Amino acid sequence: MAVFKLDNVEDLYAIGNVLGSGHFGQVREVRERATGVLWAGKFLKLKKGAGSRLGLERKSVEKEVEILQSLQHQNIMALKDVFESRAELVLIIELIKGGELFDFIAEKENLTETEAIEFMKQILEGVSYMHQKYVAHFDLKPENIMLSDKHAPNPDIKIIDFGMAHRFIQGEEYKSLGGTPQYIAPEIINYEPLSTAADMWSIGVITYILLSGLSPFQGETDEETLRNIVAMNYEFEPHYFSQTSNMAKDFIQKLLVKDQRYERITAEECLVHPWIKPLNRTQIAKRNRSSINMKNFKKFNARRKWKMSFNMVSACNRFCRLQLLCKARGPEQQELRDCESDQEDTGTKPASLLRRRLSSSS
Ligand code: AMP
Repeated sequence: MAVFKLDNVEDLYAIGNVLGSGHFGQVREVRERATGVLWAGKFLKLKKGAGSRLGLERKSVEKEVEILQSLQHQNIMALKDVFESRAELVLIIELIKGGELFDFIAEKENLTETEAIEFMKQILEGVSYMHQKYVAHFDLKPENIMLSDKHAPNPDIKIIDFGMAHRFIQGEEYKSLGGTPQYIAPEIINYEPLSTAADMWSIGVITYILLSGLSPFQGETDEETLRNIVAMNYEFEPHYFSQTSNMAKDFIQKLLVKDQRYERITAEECLVHPWIKPLNRTQIAKRNRSSINMKNFKKFNARRKWKMSFNMVSACNRFCRLQLLCKARGPEQQELRDCESDQEDTGTKPASLLRRRLSSSS
């Protein structure tokens, strides 16, 4: 059972700048008063009552905290402490200063597959560790893969945001409809029992994007994207994959497999795939000669960042409208609004809604 401290977090930490925003609150830099050490504080709004539409269930934060407390790995964001107040929970976590891996890569002129693999290996090591502990992340995507310090000669990968993570218990089935359309596995869309293999699908999608700057299943709408995933509708367009090695394509093909139990490879198996761990000099040379499609990758990343800020602006506008509405309605409604998140309605629709629409339209 996770232990939440009842002290006022501000007595122990000075609260600093906003580092980012999630669905139910903000992440801010915080300085521990006793030591001067910098951390990140994840401030999560809680649902005030059963009828409240916004904010998080306390139980779901407890789940995230228990999972984070059980994971200690160099490539997984560490949790230090948790504080609880009336309407908010504050997670004190390792400060990750290097920004997102994709932004770091997009600033480069060239990147060989060998260099890209150094990052992939670290992602796989973090994922393999959590899978050995029966934990699946269920929201692996570029926004959740950060770097400890981008100025270090070999920056460490840090996997963040365990808000959707789940620990499997033997004999218990787990289904979920959450996730981000571009990255979710077909078994999530089909509402089938899940396993850690769903994360491996997402790694396949991330690798595909990293190498080509294309998103394998991306449609004009989220519905079309989900339809493409279920139909396994993807290919390696020669124009975008001309600089890619066959080993890299084989790696992706072994991950973007519908059969999650027997055919999709595990993180352990990925770590010994010849693209990650070459068996001979010829394979090493092939990786060195192949590179990522930087021109297209930069375009992909710029579009991704634009979409993220567009979603943020839409959420803020919605929040302002809600605020005006609350002011017009009087103080009792104002109190309700104070415990609600300003981040719930981003542009990304939950897979549950999309799946329902998908099944009603097919
Ligand atoms: P999350 O709600 O965990 O997805 O976090 C929202 C955003 O806050 C992320 O996309 C990051 O930009 C930022 N962030 C999250 N965790 C950290 C951290 N430990 N250190 C620095 N920034 C973070």
